[in-house]
Amino acid sequence: MADMANDYDVLVIGGGVVGAAILWELAKYDLRLALLEKRSDVADATSKANSGIAHTGFDSKPGTLESASIVASNPRWDEICNVLEVPLQRCGAIMVALSDDDLHSLEGILAEAHANGVHDVRRLTVDEVRALEPNLNPATCGGLLVPRESFTSSALLTIAYAESAVLNGAEVFLQHSVTALQPVEGGMLVTTPQRTFRARWVINAAGLASDAIAALVGDDSFAITPRKGEFFVLDKSVGPLVRHIILPVPTPISKGILVAPTVEGNLILGPTADDIQDKTDTRTTADGMKRVAEATRKLVPALDPYRTTITQYAGLRAVCSTGHWEVHPSERCPRLIHAAGIRSTGLSGSPEIARRVGEMLAEGGLALRPRPGYQPRRPAIRLIREATPAEAEELCRHDPRYGHLVCRCEQVSEAEIVQAIHAPIPATTLDGIKRRLRPGAGRCQGGFCGPRVLEILARELGRDLSGIAKSGPGAEIVTQRNKAAWTSKPQDN
Ligand SMILES: Cc1cc2nc3c(=O)[nH]c(=O)nc-3n(C[C@H](O)[C@H](O)[C@H](O)COP(=O)(O)OP(=O)(O)OC[C@H]3O[C@@H](n4cnc5c(N)ncnc54)[C@H](O)[C@@H]3O)c2cc1C
Repeated sequence: MADMANDYDVLVIGGGVVGAAILWELAKYDLRLALLEKRSDVADATSKANSGIAHTGFDSKPGTLESASIVASNPRWDEICNVLEVPLQRCGAIMVALSDDDLHSLEGILAEAHANGVHDVRRLTVDEVRALEPNLNPATCGGLLVPRESFTSSALLTIAYAESAVLNGAEVFLQHSVTALQPVEGGMLVTTPQRTFRARWVINAAGLASDAIAALVGDDSFAITPRKGEFFVLDKSVGPLVRHIILPVPTPISKGILVAPTVEGNLILGPTADDIQDKTDTRTTADGMKRVAEATRKLVPALDPYRTTITQYAGLRAVCSTGHWEVHPSERCPRLIHAAGIRSTGLSGSPEIARRVGEMLAEGGLALRPRPGYQPRRPAIRLIREATPAEAEELCRHDPRYGHLVCRCEQVSEAEIVQAIHAPIPATTLDGIKRRLRPGAGRCQGGFCGPRVLEILARELGRDLSGIAKSGPGAEIVTQRNKAAWTSKPQDN
């Protein structure tokens, strides 16, 4: 048997927003914790490719775990994002009625919001809607205001949850794909290609693969299928077109295609909702983008997605065959707790899902004693683009690499990139740096800064250029064949 030196109280499988939130919650207690993630980074699957909205739960199905989790989580976001230093904008959402049928539907949605305990949702007259959002379709005939709908960055939140846990003693093993689970006396053996871990409890937060993890203990009580959602990301120049999250009146299978601001000042348009077969198919499609363009131009006619887009992306919702979230101990193996099938709103419900998992562990007999010296604050990297001139001067004095701008579009310096590479959850790929700091996420999409980031990664990680990948093994950018071209120094500024 492989190395058995690793004994943990709880081992979390999956470094998405759900798994990372659970690790963060449990790190408040005096426990030995680890998270296993098969990819090269946390937040590299569905949790990096969503709408980034911290929902209030106003339109969720009353009486469900999903609804209870979102409603309980929403009031906590200000405090959570403050201590984890993650951006949060309490911008509010407007659901836009474009017809009499829509107006009629709003009545039901308002009643549902109140049944969900979201009492501040209210009807808006057409004049009120226009005053709040002058660029909406002139056919707008009314709306609903949802004051506490907010947006954040799902990826930054996931990274922050995981980093906070690491700062408090948890371990995160990247590129560790769980391939076997074996119940043993008092716990489980968890096998990855590198080694076998022993844990008293295991949490299944493997997103789209959570059915495969359940199957490792013979639990076939649910199956997961992917539902694709495609998005446009628009240039910041059109960011001011809307100030709120703009929602259509929903359909039975989707909350609908929305227009939303992002923490970075872009607009996103999407998502579609298409059931597909392949759990790895995150390609955008011409048809999907067309539907997004049409639907969002109905809400905001001034949008011109094809001319103002800087990129597109798609994410896959983990649709559960049972029709609801599966957050409970496995019936086949009570030491395995599922946090699975979190199809929609997993970001919004993540603090409460994590709290409930903690409660289940306590009910199972795990002692949850406060961790001595627990540090709730997780400091984020100081960003030169957010600094005042005086602060920028101070940052440069402290680390002159703050004066070397690597990414012009998003104003990212070498100092920030170096810090991300050596952070508690290290960024070791181009995508990892992009997710944390945004070089490559701006207008030029990495055309200018990509080679520079690559060189900094290689230098800081002590690797050859051919050892640096876009997203992980197999996605290396510099190969032995094209190395000569890449190593000829690009022109600086
Ligand atoms: C288009 C779209 C829009 C959305 N919009 C919103 C929104 O605005 N607000 C909101 O709250 N929610 C939204 N959601 C839902 C939200 O994104 C999900 O609920 C959430 O990201 C699920 O997180 P997760 O941690 O369960 O899954 P994931 O983020 O997929 O994480 C699972 C992780 O498990 C890892 N893994 C899998 N198998 C193994 C293995 N064998 N060993 C180790 N690791 C493994 C994967 O690599 C992955 O990193 C949206 C989703 C989509 C697709």
